[in-house]
Amino acid sequence: MRKETIVENLNAVGERIVTCCNNCDRNPAEITLLAVSKTRPAQDLRFAYEAGQRHFGENYLQEALEKQDALSDLDIHWHFIGPLQSNKSRAVAERFQWIHTVDRLKIAQRLSSQRPKDLAPLNICLQVNIDGEQSKSGIAVQNLVAMAREVVKLPRLRLRGLMAIPAVRQNVQAQKEPFAELASLLQSLRQEFPEQTMDTLSMGMSGDMEAAIACGATIVRIGTDIFGTRNYSA
Ligand SMILES: *Cc1c(COP(=O)(O)O)cnc(C)c1O
Repeated sequence: MRKETIVENLNAVGERIVTCCNNCDRNPAEITLLAVSKTRPAQDLRFAYEAGQRHFGENYLQEALEKQDALSDLDIHWHFIGPLQSNKSRAVAERFQWIHTVDRLKIAQRLSSQRPKDLAPLNICLQVNIDGEQSKSGIAVQNLVAMAREVVKLPRLRLRGLMAIPAVRQNVQAQKEPFAELASLLQSLRQEFPEQTMDTLSMGMSGDMEAAIACGATIVRIGTDIFGTRNYSA
């Protein structure tokens, strides 16, 4: 993709975040824009980095590791946001600062034991299956507190908050429902674990970012609106 286009898109998304914050009385500084770069060549990430973007989200481990190697001269904060098989947890523990998609205790335990001692604890979000969809990953709402109780015991992880990918809804009002529910789940976790710094709601993508910010998102995960439509067959 042309660098100019990526820069324009980043600026446009940044302006949308500011407008949206003004409308709902929030400070734009509370919101981290995560550029979701799956399927994009390393060069596109480099262009975005040169425009000031620092946080990048990747879904596919092998692809992510290749881009990390190609961009090792840059000070990027890498977030893993895809489904993770437990036999691949080591690379995430060793080479990412964040993972948003922890939904099984076994994965959390492996990530904690594999996190190198010379790195800060791995930042994690628990992924919640907020709409209770059969086929979707994520922890069922009724199991969330029990899972959090175990995860906070793991020494090499830092539980930062919750992540969700709600089912598609047709308008902003409807989009707000699952986001508001996720925000209230985080609120109850904070009461139960006051000693943890649970400051993160990872929610909102290109199609529902405004609703997510209105409901308290602190990380919005934006792919299409920065890098254009993905072409998976390419
Ligand atoms: C692909 C992806 C995104 C970005 O989606 P867009 O609609 O392209 O903004 C965000 N979060 C997750 C978990 C994704 O897999």
